[in-house]
Amino acid sequence: MIDGYAKNGCYKEALMTFRKMWLNEDVSIDQHLLCSVLCACGGGNAYNVGRCLHTFVVKLGFELNVSVMYCKIGDMDSGSRLLETDSTRGTNIVSYTSLIDEYVEADQIDKALTIFADLKRKNIEPNEFTFSSLIKACANQASLEQGVQLHALVFKCNLNQDPFVSSVIVDMYGKCGLLDHSIRAFNKISKANEYAWNSLMGVFAHHGLGHEAIDVFNKMLVQELEPSAVTFINLLNACSHSGLVKEGLSHLDSMEKVYKITPRSEHYSCVVDLLGQAGKLEEAENFINKMPFEPNAYAWCSLLASCRKYSDQKRGELAAEILKKLEPENSGARALLSNIYAKEQQWEDVRSVRKTMKDENVKKLPGYSWVDVDNKVHVFGVEDWCHPHKKEIDLKLDSLLSKIVEAGYVTDTDSVPLDLEYDMKVKVLHRHSERIATAYAPIHLPIGKPIIVKKNIRVCVDCHSAIKLISKVEGRKIILRDNSRFHHFADGSCSCKDFW
Ligand SMILES: [Zn+2]
Ligand SMILES: [Zn+2]
Repeated sequence: MIDGYAKNGCYKEALMTFRKMWLNEDVSIDQHLLCSVLCACGGGNAYNVGRCLHTFVVKLGFELNVSVMYCKIGDMDSGSRLLETDSTRGTNIVSYTSLIDEYVEADQIDKALTIFADLKRKNIEPNEFTFSSLIKACANQASLEQGVQLHALVFKCNLNQDPFVSSVIVDMYGKCGLLDHSIRAFNKISKANEYAWNSLMGVFAHHGLGHEAIDVFNKMLVQELEPSAVTFINLLNACSHSGLVKEGLSHLDSMEKVYKITPRSEHYSCVVDLLGQAGKLEEAENFINKMPFEPNAYAWCSLLASCRKYSDQKRGELAAEILKKLEPENSGARALLSNIYAKEQQWEDVRSVRKTMKDENVKKLPGYSWVDVDNKVHVFGVEDWCHPHKKEIDLKLDSLLSKIVEAGYVTDTDSVPLDLEYDMKVKVLHRHSERIATAYAPIHLPIGKPIIVKKNIRVCVDCHSAIKLISKVEGRKIILRDNSRFHHFADGSCSCKDFW
């Protein structure tokens, strides 16, 4: 409970619970507990309490360190320095894992890996928490190479049957785009618990495999495993990515009635997406208005995205207006709105959205894509990107364009929300970051190896059709992960069957 409080930012509650436990209960105190309490001290800026506690901890004879506390107050370098200089405390795996955890939470995976390397140098055996934390980070950043290396170490340390470690491995392969590896990792778990099943369901959802996700859900029930709130988020997401409206609505209905789980705002948002993506915009709007609590920005953003997909200008304007109040800095919402106008060629309105953005100092999120080649991440933006192989990439892009044109590619100029001449639009689209990444990878990847491209924002309609054909003319599988889901391109078509 203390750990739960500390991890969710309820530091005062964590400390109060610890105090109560300390005074009233006859419970033994271990290092994990003290680490959580120190985290709460750091997070709640209870620096003095932390210091007292630390002195006390040393007296108790625990080799715990205070670096966790430094990390929580944002001074992670002091934390790791302390760990480095203190030889007695620096041999504790709990301390190391806490520090790794903090770096992972702060999205500083490189530093987390440096700490991990240090730990190996000192011959300290990592435990299941260390691996879970690091592999989760690899999953979120889709760092496949690192993830694979960690997976090998998991085997070496005999932790491959640990239920938490194996669940994050399933998740990691899924998030890195390797669906088969993920399923294989799941099948190797001798007794999968609900975390593992949830991971697998999440992977299917992410890859747009709605029916498979529902299948996993049914199998969970057969195994008499309790579905959780997370199970239903995965399930509803899966239905949404596959257009399974009827199934999704019935699962939402059963949550409370059958499984006694009260749906949270995330569940409702998934349903808004489910209805909107299937073109049921009126139902989606009614659903938002009938939600038992204030709809969040995510729900309105989903509706707005669906309005753009189905060119519903009126409803889109309404959603954008509400979003502007909820999240004034949300540049994505403005971009979606200007896309709706651009599609109708209302350039005056496009300019006006852009002007308000400029006046209110809202910056457009730049799109970029990245691809792993030779153990290195190569990042490409739309403009001003530089790369030692720029010339080669430009040539490859041009040759790909002529090949796909021959195969029937027609530019979808609606994908450029700018008032430009046709040729200019073609030029702009031709240099979208996902296309540059797709062109770069085959120059250096062995023949037959699939190309895995990641993008920070949604792939555009034109790139989607272009990459379909690139997969055909190149004879390669191309896996693209954008901020919403995975697309698996092969032989001229995509796994999403153009529903996304
Ligand atoms: Zn594009
Ligand atoms: Zn697709």
